Amino acid sequence: MALDSNCIFCKIIQGEIPSTKIMETERTYAFADLNPQAEVHALVVPKNHFARVSEVAQADPSLLAEIVSTAQSIANEKYNGQFRLIFNSGEDAGQTVFHCHAHVLTGQKLEGE
Ligand code: 5GP
Ligand code: ZN
Repeated sequence: MALDSNCIFCKIIQGEIPSTKIMETERTYAFADLNPQAEVHALVVPKNHFARVSEVAQADPSLLAEIVSTAQSIANEKYNGQFRLIFNSGEDAGQTVFHCHAHVLTGQKLEGE
């Protein structure tokens, strides 16, 4: 598996840093964000290390689809199937962890954009 030994999300996937698991598929892992912005705030990551979402899209479109499907499954399980999906890509967009991750916000009616 392609991992980066300096990456905190790779360490979470390996179990070296504890996390609250929400769901897992063959190629994705979903866990609770440490600093939740909604009733349910999951991070869905590919188990292989990619820095940005566009790298996943280019390398393996079906893996990006699997991330979206995992988000849907979380929203089905935890709420009514509705959710907000956010990928921050690059520092200027607010990306602080450079292992591609989808923020899944659900569990409540969400305000704002
Ligand atoms: P970004 O700003 O890169 O889009 O999102 C990074 C997210 O990772 C933030 O929402 C932050 O709360 C979360 N985060 C950072 N470090 C950890 C950690 O060690 N464990 C968990 N569960 N979440 C983390
Ligand atoms: Zn990583």
